[in-house]
Amino acid sequence: MNRRSIRFRLTAWYALILMVTFAAAGAVVWWAIRDSIHSTVDKDLRSRLKAMRTYVEKQSSTPDAEPVAEELAEDAALSGTSFRVLGSDGRWIYQAPETQGWALPNEDASHLPNKGKINTVMTDGKPMRVLSAPVQLGPNQLALAQIGVPVEEYYEMLNGVTWTALLASPLVLLLASAGGYWMSRRALEPVDQITRTAAEIGAYNLSQRLPLRKTGDELDRLSATLNSMFARLEAAFRQITQFTADASHELRTPVAIIRTTAELARSKPRSPEEYRKALDGILTESERTSRLIEDLMLLARADAGADSIVEEPISLAECLRDACAEVGILAEHKGVCLEVSDPPECTIRGDQQAIRRMFLILLDNAIKYTPSGGKVGVNLSIERVGSGQSAVVEVRDTGAGISPDDLPHVFERFYRAAKDRSRNTGGAGLGLSIARWIAERHGGEVECESTVESGSVFRVRLPIIIDQFQS
Ligand code: ADP
Repeated sequence: MNRRSIRFRLTAWYALILMVTFAAAGAVVWWAIRDSIHSTVDKDLRSRLKAMRTYVEKQSSTPDAEPVAEELAEDAALSGTSFRVLGSDGRWIYQAPETQGWALPNEDASHLPNKGKINTVMTDGKPMRVLSAPVQLGPNQLALAQIGVPVEEYYEMLNGVTWTALLASPLVLLLASAGGYWMSRRALEPVDQITRTAAEIGAYNLSQRLPLRKTGDELDRLSATLNSMFARLEAAFRQITQFTADASHELRTPVAIIRTTAELARSKPRSPEEYRKALDGILTESERTSRLIEDLMLLARADAGADSIVEEPISLAECLRDACAEVGILAEHKGVCLEVSDPPECTIRGDQQAIRRMFLILLDNAIKYTPSGGKVGVNLSIERVGSGQSAVVEVRDTGAGISPDDLPHVFERFYRAAKDRSRNTGGAGLGLSIARWIAERHGGEVECESTVESGSVFRVRLPIIIDQFQS
């Protein structure tokens, strides 16, 4: 048996508590029996004393005390009681032979209470209860009467009970401990099962779950909690695996293009113009790869909670104006009209670079997915939410829109609408997931409404800091 196991410790504690309870209960019972023996015997002694006094009173006319004592002795002998009477002059008026060995302290009859005093004495190795009390023998004589009753039989019975209890208790203790061990074993059996199953669960069988016995007890609740933990781990693990697979897939294409372009350029002598074209291609793909790697690293750091987002008061209008200015040329180049309504001043707490990046992603998408001649509108407004305020930035386009099938997924990592995957117009499908992460990291949210062929609206809500100058 493992000494550190809960089972062993439970049983040991159980046995210890049982032993202490046994000992305490045994002691109480022993005292109770002894007390009851004494009170029965003492009651008997007192009734004898009473009888003696009544008798002596009746004979009080007798001038000599000795004949009275003798008569009493006869009566006592019949009932198995021994007694002796000591006169006030220190002379024995009567002394039964068996009372000679009573080792009692010298008592003065005049100092004893009327009901007397009881002692247990040993005579010839046998216990006796002896009552010492004052008795009026005649008008002028206060004698000391000592009446004794043997209690050996009672004590023997008490000893018998004590020995039986002492001998039986180890057996009872052993049986109870064995029962306790069996019970704790039964109760803790599911723990062993949980341990075994949990030990089997690894990276390759994360979908395995602990069995539930549906008893609703603590161990079942533990299994259910562990199961939900396994489910979360499985989801996280799946997400990481998916992320790694998607990331490597996305990286493979540009690396393959770079390699083939270089190989092709090197395969035979080429004109400087051809070399320049090949190098341009390589440069474009390298830039794309660098951007992709940066995005991947940003998301990986975000997942690990190790992002470098700073939190300081920033002007949202300024960020928006900057981002719009940056994509202005792109819109112009594409023949898309970019309309920016004059944004009201508002301060938020956050990272200027990140917020600008979020706007750039939304604006870039809007321009990218809007055909030439279309329009992209940008608007910043302030909304009251409860006791605070939120800034709402809307990027509205008149582009291709997003189909209802794609709409719930556009914020997922690596998700691209089916037609974009084939057309290869978009990026790796990470833009919107980064935008959403930035919004959420600033305590805000981003949502999208879209109608196919008529355009989309991306709406970002961010909490505003209300400082004393604004309020
Ligand atoms: P990508 O880098 O491919 O643009 P995003 O995460 O930014 O990745 O966008 C995911 C998908 O959402 C895109 O592939 C595109 O199909 C769709 N999408 C995003 N913005 C728009 C928009 N303004 N209009 C239409 N479709 C959009």
